Amino acid sequence: MTVTLRNSNVEKLGEQEFDVLILGGGINGAVAAASLAGRGVKTALIDKGDFAGGVSSSSSNLAWGGIKYLETLEFLLVNKLCKSRNELMRAYPSTVKEIRFFTTIQRGFRFWPFFVFLGSVLYWIIGRFATKAPRYISGRAIEDREPVVNSTKTAGGLEYSDCYLYDNDARFVFNFIRKSLNYGCIAANYVESMGARRQGGEWITAARDVITGETFDIRSKVVVNACGPYVDAVNRLSGARTEYHHLFSKGIHLIVDKVTDNKRVLTFFASDGRLFFLIPMGPKTCVGTTDTQVDDPAVGVTDEDRDFVLSNVNALLDLEPPLTRADIIAERVGVRPLATRRESATADWVQLSRKHVIEADEATRHLSIFGGKLTDCLNVGKQVAQWVQRMGIDVPEPDNKWYGEPGGDLRDEFMLQAKLMDLDGMTDPSSSEPLSERFWRRYGESAFGLLERIREDESCVELLIENAEYTRCEIELAARREMIVKLEDFMRRRSKIEQVVRWEDIAKAPGLQEACDILFEEEAQERLREYLEGQP
Ligand SMILES: Cc1cc2nc3c(=O)[nH]c(=O)nc-3n(C[C@H](O)[C@H](O)[C@H](O)COP(=O)(O)OP(=O)(O)OC[C@H]3O[C@@H](n4cnc5c(N)ncnc54)[C@H](O)[C@@H]3O)c2cc1C
Repeated sequence: MTVTLRNSNVEKLGEQEFDVLILGGGINGAVAAASLAGRGVKTALIDKGDFAGGVSSSSSNLAWGGIKYLETLEFLLVNKLCKSRNELMRAYPSTVKEIRFFTTIQRGFRFWPFFVFLGSVLYWIIGRFATKAPRYISGRAIEDREPVVNSTKTAGGLEYSDCYLYDNDARFVFNFIRKSLNYGCIAANYVESMGARRQGGEWITAARDVITGETFDIRSKVVVNACGPYVDAVNRLSGARTEYHHLFSKGIHLIVDKVTDNKRVLTFFASDGRLFFLIPMGPKTCVGTTDTQVDDPAVGVTDEDRDFVLSNVNALLDLEPPLTRADIIAERVGVRPLATRRESATADWVQLSRKHVIEADEATRHLSIFGGKLTDCLNVGKQVAQWVQRMGIDVPEPDNKWYGEPGGDLRDEFMLQAKLMDLDGMTDPSSSEPLSERFWRRYGESAFGLLERIREDESCVELLIENAEYTRCEIELAARREMIVKLEDFMRRRSKIEQVVRWEDIAKAPGLQEACDILFEEEAQERLREYLEGQP
């Protein structure tokens, strides 16, 4: 059923003329689409794969002010990121959640624990006290507070706050795509840009439907290149010249069984001196990351990467038995696209700033988005809209608030209706939170439709796959509204099932077939076969 939404959008892409065509549906493209469409600009978006199929599904899932950039004295960047984090916290209270970072400092580390604590106080001040205050923890108190930490070499520690994306990064991105669709954006996944050319004062982008192989042209006044690590390659196809370009730093995460019941991020400095996190991910723990310079953005996880992460975890925690490769449930890998001027010296690339840069060619009405972070996404959306207006495109609703969860009254009404039908009483015992919270966070105002569906048929509140925290009625909703073309789109990005359930358990889950039937109807067998064949 959802493929119909996509197919009709693909048709419209070839038929209509747009003010703006956005290439790439990662976080930068998604916020640009929501911001433009939300202000009434006629917008289209294509991605050569699934939405958030690139780096935006491989992050650490943190919305953070960048405490580590204090060490490189990038106060302005930290100030900007803290402001962005605070705005996200306010706009998405059920998605961007504050969490404590329990930080352990080893003896012999380059700074004394108390000095690091003072840094966290400065961070808290720069963050305008929007979170709970930091606390110093003496070396002796570390093990009492968090027994899983190996305290033999611990000098001391601290606890401070930042935020994380409760569901996951890909879901966060998709919700911007969904919002843009609500505002009339014509978006389609699995449509690739093969290059764009100028003709008669407009852009003609040669597009290819990756599913059918068909090619067609998309006409627009402005092109926004938001292809993440592929911005340079896509600009080359269109002959767009820029002052900035990307360098790449690869980072991986491993997902393992929960290492502690305390719901907080365990923070260390790894053997390479960099920050290293163990972050709650639903019922599991996500561990990482690494920072390796690479030339090619198409990367995979190597045994060396795995062993680096596992050996650090085993050295820093008291795990019995220690973690081995067999304990890895899932992996995440991507490159950080780092914006740099072409002529700048790049010797110390790890120190390269993680700021985003929007480079505009006003004469040809072309924008390229370099670098950036999920945390700063709202600013990217706002700046793209400013550039588009400056390029002479009419912005009919400049002040519309295009982001954020629906207002408090609607939430109260939803919670009341959920309470009156005892929705939370229907929550599966294996779930990590009540159904009302989850439904509201994932679907906002569309969650009312789920209540209606459950009133019709209570059995649709059952979990389809064990530990997956997805009920049948949510999959029905996803089939209609979430443009799921392949089963992997649902298992890895709309949901995080693939990240928290072992592959062997997914493959034999009785509900997998039923999920496929709901999502793909008559194509269910084919989509399931394709999915099972594509897995390790
Ligand atoms: C290991 C790691 C950890 C990170 N942790 C954090 C964190 O905790 N917090 C944070 O704020 N940031 C974090 N980041 C940074 C953040 O994830 C990225 O900066 C951000 O996701 C980049 O988004 P993007 O939209 O630019 O790129 P992408 O998400 O890669 O999106 C680009 C899209 O363009 C599409 N595309 C490419 N070529 C074409 C084409 N020819 N036609 C159509 N589409 C095309 C791709 O398919 C892709 O979907 C992390 C990054 C990494 C690698």
